[in-house]
This record gives sequence, structure tokens and C-alpha cells, in this order.
Amino acid sequence: MGATRVQTLDTTRRAAPEPAHPPARAFASNRALSRREMIGAPVRWPRPSRLEAPLGLPVGRMAEGMAALGLQTVGELLEHLPRDSREARTVAALRPGEQATVAVQVQAIGMRPVRRRGMRPLVQARVFDATGSMGATFFNQPWLVQRYPPGTRLLLHGKADAKGGFRVSHHAVGAERSPADRGADGARGGQGPGARAGAPDAASRDSPVGEGGLREPVDCAQTGAVAHYPAAEGVTSTQILTLVQGARGALNDMTEALAAEVRVTEGLPDRASALAAMHFPRNAHDSETGRGRLAFEELLLTQLVFLRRRARRRARTDAPVLDEEPSLSARWLDGGLPFALTGDQRRAIETIRGDLEQPRAMQRLLIGEVGSGKTVVALYAMLRAVEHGHQAALMAPTETLAEQHFATLQRLIGAEPVAAGLLTGSVPARRREDVLGKLASGELSLVVGTHALIEPDVRFRALAVAVVDEQHRFGVRQRAALDGKGTPHTLHMTATPIPRTLALAGYGDLDASTLRELPAGRQAIDTRVVAGDGERARAYDELREQLRTGRQAYVVCPLVEEAGAAADGRTPAGARGARPEVGQRAATAELRRLREGELQGYELVLLHGGMPPREKQQAMAAFASGKADVLVATTVIEVGIDVPNAAVMLVENAERFGLSQLHQLRGRVGRGEHRASCLLVASSAPTGSARLRAMVQNADGFRLAEIDLRLRREGDLVGTRQSGLSQFQVACLPEDADLLERARAWAEAIIAEDPELRAPEHALLGEALRLRFGAEALLPIPA
Ligand code: ADP
Ligand code: MG
Repeated sequence: MGATRVQTLDTTRRAAPEPAHPPARAFASNRALSRREMIGAPVRWPRPSRLEAPLGLPVGRMAEGMAALGLQTVGELLEHLPRDSREARTVAALRPGEQATVAVQVQAIGMRPVRRRGMRPLVQARVFDATGSMGATFFNQPWLVQRYPPGTRLLLHGKADAKGGFRVSHHAVGAERSPADRGADGARGGQGPGARAGAPDAASRDSPVGEGGLREPVDCAQTGAVAHYPAAEGVTSTQILTLVQGARGALNDMTEALAAEVRVTEGLPDRASALAAMHFPRNAHDSETGRGRLAFEELLLTQLVFLRRRARRRARTDAPVLDEEPSLSARWLDGGLPFALTGDQRRAIETIRGDLEQPRAMQRLLIGEVGSGKTVVALYAMLRAVEHGHQAALMAPTETLAEQHFATLQRLIGAEPVAAGLLTGSVPARRREDVLGKLASGELSLVVGTHALIEPDVRFRALAVAVVDEQHRFGVRQRAALDGKGTPHTLHMTATPIPRTLALAGYGDLDASTLRELPAGRQAIDTRVVAGDGERARAYDELREQLRTGRQAYVVCPLVEEAGAAADGRTPAGARGARPEVGQRAATAELRRLREGELQGYELVLLHGGMPPREKQQAMAAFASGKADVLVATTVIEVGIDVPNAAVMLVENAERFGLSQLHQLRGRVGRGEHRASCLLVASSAPTGSARLRAMVQNADGFRLAEIDLRLRREGDLVGTRQSGLSQFQVACLPEDADLLERARAWAEAIIAEDPELRAPEHALLGEALRLRFGAEALLPIPA
């Protein structure tokens, strides 16, 4: 709250400048404002209720299109942000063949019949702007002759042809603009009186999109950029822009959620200006400034929700305190482990030990590189519960993984007398009854399972530690459901190795520990792209060579059945775009082919999500015991499978998989002391090549996660949800990591000072939270 903040954004102060302060100046100039000018400056009284006014579009395709986009009110329209802005061209600057948007005026318009049968007459117009004129052609819309009489201002999007003409694909009415409106542009960062949108007149406020409804003109020759909106059937981006222009006056009714202190310190424009800058940019810089401001707000709101949630949780002190001297866990750490812990594992274990001694429930995210040994850390936490006479549960996303964890735990526990049970969907009813009974009585200390663990009839006598493996596979509800079974300390494990900063974005309410270090002696995995028949043949040579020396191998395919059958429906994060397609190798068919072909004489087994549980178990058991040499599978093996003797991972149609999936798959090999390789067989899809190259060049999952995010933004979005980073409408990660850090810092400061957001300067922030996240976001934090 220093003197620097006096450079006022606060309209009430402006009218009475104190001589000690620098004088208020006209926008973008050095000229001091006179007292009369200041008194005459428009005063803004936002009336947010007006943003709820319906757009009032005439019934028709356009209204349907807008409804499909979720745009029914003025406020929704103004919050519909452009995807990007297109460079607007002047007529003189158009190049043949170029797609462009121009703002022009109609000079003459007429119809020309078309000879071909069934075609409607063409509409041809002569249009001009300040730089020149050209012929514009509209197809199939004869009525435009009446609608666009000479003098009409138009926004045209289309393609310039070689003969100096313009083929129109989208068009909308532009608008008249009075020079006086120019200064009210609002797209300049919002510092000062000029940045406020012009004083709206009563008529336009009441009917923001009336009669052609456009108060602000489109003046692309000067703005240099035209906003480009996500559109829908029935309504084009250009038409949306026209509507936004009509509703522009309503920007004055936007409330400002950010306190002036935040805006000034961060150098951010106010909300209305930011929106104006995005809708009506003069250049790319305007759009980005506006976007940055809105992204900051979005990130701040999410961090506030996380921190409030955390504060509420921390206020509860009913978690079991696990602070006795270690016995079982110490014996296990000192003598029971077949290896020495890595430094990261030791640090994570120490931290968790501290967490468990507290009466408030641990909520920790364990971010671990694939193969970094998260299971050991989890088992430590679980054994701490057991040695205090409490219970522990581990929930995994698939049955295969749950079974494997169960086997691993039993092996790791070794000779210790700890009663453990398994609970999955395919455990027979009688066994299930038995397990449920023993969990309720406390006879079972440890339980491993799938979603089956969170069903309502599963009761624990004293659940003290819950572990959620591969937690990104579970929904928020499912993750939290174990909480309902007591107040357990919870460890969330993820192998989507995201940098700590980004973890804040998805899991900002959790504490985080990272296992970056891999156990000593791990070999680098030789990763190669295999393309063409010659390389494929050599890849099989290599695979057979490994099998001959006693190693095992995985062959992964994106589909279960041959083209024509459905994809592996049990794996929600399955192969990307796994449409039946010629050339895709289905696991089942590939197994048959390899048995008779390249891998004749070796023992092959099949594993995919559609198999009955029993068969899956048998297949996994055969591979884990070394009885089977090769596991031909879909991505069910993507997570968690741990067979140290496996040394080759061959992925068919590798370009069909996401980067984090490929990294997960690669992580299945190189777990023992053997030399391992990952062979990425590419069919000819150029889109996949950037991912495959990234795989060859990077072994570090954290780095790959960043690359993945970047690539996903450029292309498809399959599976982005999992990472928890795509929940944002405006913010863009990892690019906005810096904004995120700053938003987090502000959120921490705000919550520390005013956890209930009761202070007047936080009231609108609270309102924004309620609007975006519901009343729940403002539940009181117990003192
Ligand atoms: P992830 O973090 O991918 O879940 P796991 O917990 O499955 O990794 O561990 C991978 C493999 O590494 C397992 O075979 C495990 O026994 C082994 N392992 C774990 N920690 C160590 C260690 N400190 N030294 C050697 N091997 C280890
Ligand atoms: Mg694991």
C-alpha cells in the first residue's frame, strides 16, 4: 500500500486531485486535464444485471447457432472470446490466393444469372476501402442485393482471386462510427479516463443488439486485426463479431473482480478493457495484453478455490496421529528391501512421516517419473498405519494393476505378519463378503483394489492411510470418496510427470513431493523410430535376439480387433483417435500373425481390456513368471505394469499414441539391469512425427510433459483432460506458468489476510468465485 499506488485507477479520486499528487492527464498524452474536463468525465455505474439480458435474436438458424455455442445473453456474448485475431487487410494489400478479412463499403451491387442448372444467381458487388476498390462475389444468396444496398459497410472474409476479385465465404454488416467514439477504444491497457468505454446512451443499453444495432464501426484499416471466434452451424465468426460490436456498450456493466492493488502491481488492465482489447484489437499485442489479464484472473480464481479448500481441510484435526516410534516400517526399510532407497525416495518418506504425525489429514501428491519407485514410498505410508493398529488402502485404476500391486506388496512385506486383501470388481461374491467383513472388523490391515473400494458398503474399522495410484485416472469424486471412509491421510500418486509449477494448476490444493531420480543402475533405453519394411525386419531381428538371451518383450497395438471392430472400450485414455483404419494393427490379429510369422516358436500371450478378468489374470501371470516371452497388448499395460525382465517395447502405429502414453509405455522396460530398447513403429502419419522425435530425443518425463502440452495445443486435444491442465478457458499452460506463479502468490496473500473474502476489496472476487465455481467455493473456513 505504498505511495506508488496513488496513480489512480479509482474514478472517485480523480475528480478532486490533491496538489501533492501529479495532475491527472488526458489519455496517452502529457496534457493535464482541466477541472471541468474531469467533472465532465463519464462516470461508470456498472449494472451487471443488464449482462443477463437476452440477446433477442430473431428466431432462425443464427439464433440456433448462437444457442449451440451457449450464447444467449449479452454477458455470455461478451465473454465469448476470440480464438485468435486474423490480420485484416486493406484492398490494396490483398494477394491472390490469400484468405483474408477486409472492411469495405458497397459501391454498387447486382445479380448475374448462372448458366448451370440448379444454381442460384451470383451476387456481384463493387466494394471499396480507403486504399482501393475490387469486385466481390457472393454465391447462392440472391437476397443480398436487397440487404446490402450501396453505402452499406461490410466485413468480408474470403479469398482473393488472381483477377483482382474476392470470393466471399463469410460476410456481416460493419457499422458507422463517429470520430468521437475513437478515443473510447478501451483497448489500451485501461490506465486512465480515456480507457473507459464511451458513455453509453440509454437506447443502446436497453437494446444492445437492436436494429443492425451497431454503434461501433469495424475499422480494420486502422485496427489491423480482426477477432476470429469459435463459430457454429448457422453463425459465422464474422457475424459473431458484428453482434459483439453491437453489445460493446454493455462492457460498461462488467464488474471488476481484481482489487486495484493487484491490477496496479501486476500492470494489468481492468476487465472491461481487457475484453475490449480481445474483441477489438489493433494488433496482436492488444489481444495478448487482454488475454493475459483474463488468464491471470482465471488462474487467481482457481488458486483461491484450491487454497480455500486446503484451508478448510487443514482446520479439521480429526485425522489419526501416527507418531509412535517406527517398528514394522523400520524393520522393513532397514532389512526388508532388496535395494537401497534413492535420495528422492528417502526425502519423500521423511516428509510423509512428518505429515502422518499431524492431526490434520495429509493430502500429498507424489509426482514421480515412470519407474522412479513410487510404490515403495506408498507402502511405507501404509505400513505406518498398520504399525499403529490402523488400516490402509491402495486404489488402482485397473484390475490388472491392482492385482500386480497386491502381489508386489505381499512380496515387499515378505515375512512380516500383515493381513492383506484384494478387492476388485471380479472378486467373487463370497470372497467379497469375506473381505468386507474383515475390513469392518479390522482383521485386515491392508487392502488393495479398484473402484470397488469406494462402494458404499465397504467399511473400515480404522482407515488411516489411503493411497490413490495413477490418480489422474480417477475423477475428483472418486479420489475424494475414500475420505468419506474416515479421515485418512491420503497420498495421490501420478506418473504424469508435470513440473511443480504446473502441478499447482491442476492440484493446487495438494502438497507435492517429486521423485525425479531413477534408481541407480538403470540403463538408458535405446529409443528408435522404425519406418519402412527394411527397418521393421531389423526390429524383429533385434527383438528375437533379446528373446534368445532370455529377455521378454511387449508388443503394443492401438486396437483390440481388426479394422471394423470397436476400440478397446475399457481404456478411457486409449489410443488416440482409435478409429478402425486400414493399416492399424489390432492386438488380436497381430498375435496370430506374429505366432505364425516373425515370432514363431516363442510363447505369446494376449492382454486387452475387453478380456474376461480371469483370462487377463492368467495372461499377466504367464508373462510375469517368465512363462510367456511376449505380451501382445493394448494400452492396458500403459500404467504400472512391472516386469523387470522385459527388455523390448515395440509399439505399433506409434504415431497414434500421445506422448505421455508413449513415455509410460517405454517405462515398462529398462526396469531391471538389462539393456532395453523401445521401438516405435511408425506408419506414415506426419502429425505423429513430432511426438516420435521428441521421444527419441528425450528420456526425461518432465521435459516430455512440457513438450506434450505444447504439441497438444497445436493439434488434437485427446486426453488432455488427464493432465488436469486443460480446465482453463483463457489461460494456456505451460506458456502461462509465470502468470500462474504470480496468481498463486496473490492467492496466498489474499487467503492469509482475508480467508473469507469479507473485505470490501475482495467482495467482487468472492462473487466471481461463486459465479464460476458455485456457492461451494465460498463455504466458510472454520477458525
Ligand atoms: P513407478 O514409480 O513407475 O510406479 P515402481 O514403484 O513400479 O515405479 O518401481 C519400479 C521398479 O523399481 C520396481 O521393480 C521396484 O521394485 C524398483 N525399485 C523401486 N525403488 C528402487 C530402488 N531404490 N532401487 C532399485 N530398484 C527400485
Ligand atoms: Mg506405479
